[in-house]
Amino acid sequence: MRRHKIPIEKVQTAFNNAIKRRDCRCMIKDYEPCYGQLECSHFFTVGSNPALRFYPPNAYTQCSKHHWKHHNVWKYGDNLISYQGWLEEHHKQDLEKMEVLRHRYIKYDDDLKAEIIRLCNADKLDELQKLIEEKLQ
Ligand SMILES: [Zn+2]
Repeated sequence: MRRHKIPIEKVQTAFNNAIKRRDCRCMIKDYEPCYGQLECSHFFTVGSNPALRFYPPNAYTQCSKHHWKHHNVWKYGDNLISYQGWLEEHHKQDLEKMEVLRHRYIKYDDDLKAEIIRLCNADKLDELQKLIEEKLQ
């Protein structure tokens, strides 16, 4: 009998929760106060960038308000504030690496999905990052 397939949503939930445990607060915000619950926010969107869906440097915790705003660039005085600007300032090397990696291919078979869940539940996000880099072709 075939094993029951692991739904991708289950992997996403484990990943999102691990990112929220890593950050514990809204990481990318503007001058407006945070609002709503904390969520896991992908820089390169899940739909267009499946390669980076479970890649820890591509995800940060935001409140639901700033999560909603983050794909837009918004202005504070003369300063542009955006997810991209924040990444360039704090994680420039990760951003450059992801620009390359996001064009690669990855197959999320059940073995890989189970391993991602295991690493997320154990908060081993450095290991998860290495695993994804190995699997990207
Ligand atoms: Zn916020």
